[in-house]
Amino acid sequence: MNCAKNAPLPPNLTLNLGLKSRNTFGLEVKAERAFEINDAAQLPALFEEIALKHWSWRVLGGGSNVILPPNLEGATLLMNITGQEVVREDESDTYLVVGAGVNWHELVAWTLNHKLPGLENLALIPGTVGAAPIQNIGAYGVEIAQYIDSIEAFDSKSNAFVTLSNKDCQFAYRDSFFKQNPHRFIVTKVIFKIPKAWRARVHYADLANFFTEAGNSNPSTQEIFDAVCQIRTKKLPDPKVIGNAGSFFQNPVVGADQYAQLMKQFPNVVSYPDAAGQRKLAAGWLIDQCGFKGQRVGEVGVYEKQALVIVNHGNATAADILSLAKTIQDSVKGRFGVTLDIEPNIL
Ligand SMILES: Cc1cc2nc3c(=O)[nH]c(=O)nc-3n(C[C@H](O)[C@H](O)[C@H](O)COP(=O)(O)OP(=O)(O)OC[C@H]3O[C@@H](n4cnc5c(N)ncnc54)[C@H](O)[C@@H]3O)c2cc1C
Repeated sequence: MNCAKNAPLPPNLTLNLGLKSRNTFGLEVKAERAFEINDAAQLPALFEEIALKHWSWRVLGGGSNVILPPNLEGATLLMNITGQEVVREDESDTYLVVGAGVNWHELVAWTLNHKLPGLENLALIPGTVGAAPIQNIGAYGVEIAQYIDSIEAFDSKSNAFVTLSNKDCQFAYRDSFFKQNPHRFIVTKVIFKIPKAWRARVHYADLANFFTEAGNSNPSTQEIFDAVCQIRTKKLPDPKVIGNAGSFFQNPVVGADQYAQLMKQFPNVVSYPDAAGQRKLAAGWLIDQCGFKGQRVGEVGVYEKQALVIVNHGNATAADILSLAKTIQDSVKGRFGVTLDIEPNIL
C-alpha cells in the first residue's frame, strides 16, 4: 500500500508556489516544491530527501540577484533564518552573528542604531544577509568581505555543517568561493567583525560630490547612511515599481595594454584603477556609448537613467532578458573588444 500519496505535507513545504513577489525582476515563476527554511537544523534531513529523490535544488534569499525560469523543478529553499546578536567584543572589534534570512538593509540600520558603524556605505542594497557574501556585495568603495569574520554553512556535498574563515571564502570583486562552487553550500549564519575604529569613506564620486555640495567635510555615519539612501533612490529603479536586478553586468577589468589601446581610440572611456596595474571599465558607460540607454525591446529594456540596469516592463521572461543581454554583449564586444559578464545568477 502506498501511504505516501495521502500523507500530509510537511508544514514548511508548499507545492507549486508562485515566486513573482520573491524575485525583484518580477518574473512569473512557479516553484514545484518550496521549502521555508526557518532553522538550519531542517537542512540535514531535507538534503537526505533531496538525494533520495534526485531532486534538483537551489536556495533563494530575496531574489534580487537572480534570473529565474518559469518553472523551478525539484526543491527551492526559501531562506528565512532570522536573528542577530552581538556575541563578543575585544579591544579592537565587535563580533555579530546574523541569520542568513535577515534583510540586509535592516541589518545595516540595526548596526548603526547599536553604535556599530562601518556598513553604512552598503545601505539599501536589496536582499538577505546570507546572499551578501555570495557575490561579495559592494557599493561606494566598500565590500562586505572587509567585515566578515567567518561563515557558517551547510555543505550539501558532505551533508555536514562547516565554518569557513574569511580567507576560505576567497572574496574578490563580485566573487567568492561560494560563487565558484555553486549548488553546494547553504549559508546559514554570517559572523561579522566590526572594527571599533571608524573612518568615513566618501571618496567615490557620487558621495564626494554629495558632501561637497552640502558643504560637509566631516560627515557622520548616519549622514553617510542617509546620503547613500538618497543617491541610490534617485539613481536606481525601485523593483517594486519596475522589475530589475540592479547592475546587470559586472564592470570589466582590462590589462594595461588593452586599456592603452582603448584610450587611443576612446579618450573619454570611464575607468577606475584596479589591482596590479589593471583598469576597471565602467560597464554602464560602454553600454551607453552603444546607444542602449532607455531602449525598449518588447517587454524588456535598458533603464533610462542608468545603462547598467535591465528592466522588466511588465511581462518579461528570463529568455527575453537574456536575449537583450546578448545583444548588448555583442554590441559592446564589437565596438570596444571588451567582454561583459552578467552579474545576476541564472538559476
Ligand atoms: C535595485 C538593486 C540594487 C542593487 N545594488 C547592488 C549593489 O549596489 N551592490 C551589489 O553588490 N549588489 C547589488 N544588487 C544585487 C543584490 O541586491 C545582491 O546581490 C544581494 O546580495 C542579493 O541578495 P538576495 O537575498 O536577493 O539573493 P538572491 O537573489 O535570492 O540569490 C542570489 C544568489 O545567491 C544564492 N543564495 C541566496 N541565499 C543564499 C544562501 N543563504 N546560501 C547560499 N546561497 C544563497 C542564490 O542561490 C543565488 O545564486 C542590487 C540589486 C537590486 C535589485
